[in-house]
Amino acid sequence: MEKIVDAVSPSGRWDFVIKSFLLVATFTLFDGWISEVTVGFTSENSVHESLITFLVGAPFGLFVMGIMASQRRLQQQLSYLASTDALTGLPNRQSFLQDAGALIEMKAGGAMFMIDVDHFKVINDTYGHLVGDTCLVRIGQHLQHQIRSCDLVGRIGGEEFAVYLPDASIDEANSVASRICTTVSIKTASHSGGTSEKLTLTLSIGCAAAHPSRSLNDLIASADIAMYNAKSKGRARVEWSNSWDVKLACGSRKVSPDQFF
Ligand code: GH3
Ligand code: MG
Ligand code: MG
Repeated sequence: MEKIVDAVSPSGRWDFVIKSFLLVATFTLFDGWISEVTVGFTSENSVHESLITFLVGAPFGLFVMGIMASQRRLQQQLSYLASTDALTGLPNRQSFLQDAGALIEMKAGGAMFMIDVDHFKVINDTYGHLVGDTCLVRIGQHLQHQIRSCDLVGRIGGEEFAVYLPDASIDEANSVASRICTTVSIKTASHSGGTSEKLTLTLSIGCAAAHPSRSLNDLIASADIAMYNAKSKGRARVEWSNSWDVKLACGSRKVSPDQFF
């Protein structure tokens, strides 16, 4: 039923006009056929009756199509809100995991990054949450600029982001991670007055290589461990989950992991 409603509901102005016309025309033809069968109209009466039915039915057809069009718009808005992080406009945790999970099930390979902003609490405590929010938006843009159109990025927690690079080799993934790991600068108004201030933020990135035998949860857990490893080693750096990860991914692509580290 959902699919029928989806196919019938109009998606644009011309679609609305054409589908309204078709709805009323179908109703008119059907009504004419019923009258013919049950009452036995002559052909002149039938045409006259059909014209009246069409004119009376037109406002109802437009009304029904109007309801369906607004229903479709509402559905699109709901699905956007359910899958998007309101602050950064990036896919939210659920949406990111769903899309990444689908690619991983298709054995897309590549690499997963878990990214955490360093000392973010200090930004909030020093400059306030509004500035903190601006920083998160800026970091989201920074991540989007560094990835390909086929890659996935999402905000999966407060100041935590994730990136999945399907089909990326280890060297490709590593160079993307290095580009992401550069200092992010944010220009903001000072909390004490009008002058603008330049904040710099760093990111800790944990990476894990995907493999056909590896589930999404396993991949995320490995990237998460690597991210905490990056934190404990002093932050502002990229860490891979372990050498097994790299060997596994490089083995299928005949690339030596040594050249990256
Ligand atoms: P670390 O380098 O160890 O990651 O330190 P940290 O300060 O970044 O880590 P911690 O987990 O202590 O702090 C995260 C902060 O992120 C705390 C929370 O107030 C802030 N935060 C989470 N979500 C938001 C948000 O939507 N907006 C703002 N402004 N801050 C947020
Ligand atoms: Mg965190
Ligand atoms: Mg943090």
